[in-house]
Amino acid sequence: MTDSSIKTSQAANDESLRDQLRALLKDGLETEVEPRAYTHEQVLDIVARLQQLEESNLEEKLKTAGFTLTPYRHEDDEQACETCMYYQLHRKFCELPELMLPAEPQWSCRLWRI
Ligand code: SF4
Repeated sequence: MTDSSIKTSQAANDESLRDQLRALLKDGLETEVEPRAYTHEQVLDIVARLQQLEESNLEEKLKTAGFTLTPYRHEDDEQACETCMYYQLHRKFCELPELMLPAEPQWSCRLWRI
């Protein structure tokens, strides 16, 4: 496989997975939007829970991380994937090791970090 065909196949896989995640959230999957992970302990707790999950358990990943289809607003912050340190904008992908999921720029989760 050439580099460009690997990239094309990765983009297609990402898009398909992103569609699945969007469908779950649009269908009303209830996620743990709050409390947000503002303290070190809260981050460690959520990350530890994510580490217990099977790689393929998308629903629980979305629930535990508190995904939303729109940015979360807190005081002057607009917490969206596109402004998160874990987001790879050109691939539209969350690189937090415990998530590693495709996501839209306007989605959000409670592990958002600037
Ligand atoms: S960690 Fe950041 S990039 Fe990943 S889903 Fe949460 S807000 Fe989006």
